[in-house]
Amino acid sequence: KQIPFELLQMVVVHELAHLREKDHNKAFYQLCTFMLPDYHQLEFDMRVWLVAEAAGQSPYQ
Ligand SMILES: [Zn+2]
Repeated sequence: KQIPFELLQMVVVHELAHLREKDHNKAFYQLCTFMLPDYHQLEFDMRVWLVAEAAGQSPYQ
């Protein structure tokens, strides 16, 4: 299954933030939202997408 581009961006930003901050602390999320202002919304969308994928249906198609 193809991951939507917006969610891929969120994953990349998440991994980039981990280069600076090992843990999911406040500084980590500040880095994420600095790189991607919609980060929190996209992280929520990502959870929805993963659950939908697990259930065998994508809400993004
Ligand atoms: Zn992480």
